[in-house]
Amino acid sequence: MPSADRAKQAAEPAGAAEPSAEPIDLGALGPGVWVELSVAADIEAVEAVSETLTRHAPGGTSVEPAFGLVDEELGAVIDTSRPAIVRAYLPGVDPAGVRLAIEEASKALGHLQAFGLRPIGDLTVRLVREADWAEAWRSHFPVLRVGRRLVIRPTWRRHRRQPGDVVLSLDPGMAFGTGLHPTTRLCLAALETLADEGFVKGARVLDVGCGSGILAIAAGKLGARELLGVDPDPIAVEASAANARLNGLSRRLAVRRGSVPTGEPPYQLVLANLIASLLVQLAPHLAAEMAPGARLLASGIFRDREGEVREAFASAGLTVARRWAEDDWLALEALLVAA
Ligand code: SAH
Repeated sequence: MPSADRAKQAAEPAGAAEPSAEPIDLGALGPGVWVELSVAADIEAVEAVSETLTRHAPGGTSVEPAFGLVDEELGAVIDTSRPAIVRAYLPGVDPAGVRLAIEEASKALGHLQAFGLRPIGDLTVRLVREADWAEAWRSHFPVLRVGRRLVIRPTWRRHRRQPGDVVLSLDPGMAFGTGLHPTTRLCLAALETLADEGFVKGARVLDVGCGSGILAIAAGKLGARELLGVDPDPIAVEASAANARLNGLSRRLAVRRGSVPTGEPPYQLVLANLIASLLVQLAPHLAAEMAPGARLLASGIFRDREGEVREAFASAGLTVARRWAEDDWLALEALLVAA
């Protein structure tokens, strides 16, 4: 079993990660122990590094962008000029498989680097015990400021509120929606702009693919009257409902397992941070959820998929009114053209 020190090491925030000075102790592997592979990579190389790690650690990867501290170091903003940390995990039940995966991943990363991509750091390997898991990932989420007023505060952190702050308390658990992903941030920033323009206060709002509930909760805090979050993933439904309670929004925010169509009367604002292919597929259903004059904020669109999404929206009777971009990601605001 790994020592408490090792577990603590695994819980250090990004940036503090040192390349593993010594090989991990394969004897410490076993059930309940995970091997964390992590690599610091320039934003441009992140996709390729994630893809490489996924091939060897098929459980998927997480990407943690670099943060710059603000507000007397009580908060953080994303810094895209510094490397992000890509992490992947291997179950510790098969030491031989782990050894092979590390070797192969390390080789593949060497090839990537030789390929001339932007800087990629060394492969760092650490052990994480399942029992320490919750703490390990928690340490990676700072208080995050988005836009001018929104503050995402993980429940285990403190935030000194500034005048005008709209603070969301969030425990994402295993659901998507920490505010760390550019697609979520784009949506939050656009939502804030819509709120400034008076489109959120008093509105009925639908959040399609609510994940942790982050967007619906932001809309609720910005004054929406009635909200529904839908997500096919039961973990997301549970997380959204818990987060609604945490933010005192249980009465206004209902959460349901499922998707569109909801069968509810049309909404004034529809939020959909999905991926391009889903937006294309769901476009007619999203449009059908909108009342005349309603707005759709659609996010999760990788740069080169914009055309397809715009086409699907046009076919569904939606007109794109505004576009927000961050790195390679886009969010589109669309209006329902009156029939
Ligand atoms: N709204 C959150 C989470 C976005 S991730 C945020 O902005 O951060 C996308 C979410 O869409 C996931 O929780 C996923 O479970 C959900 N999803 C996947 N397929 C879907 C579908 N067909 N309809 C609605 N939601 C879907």
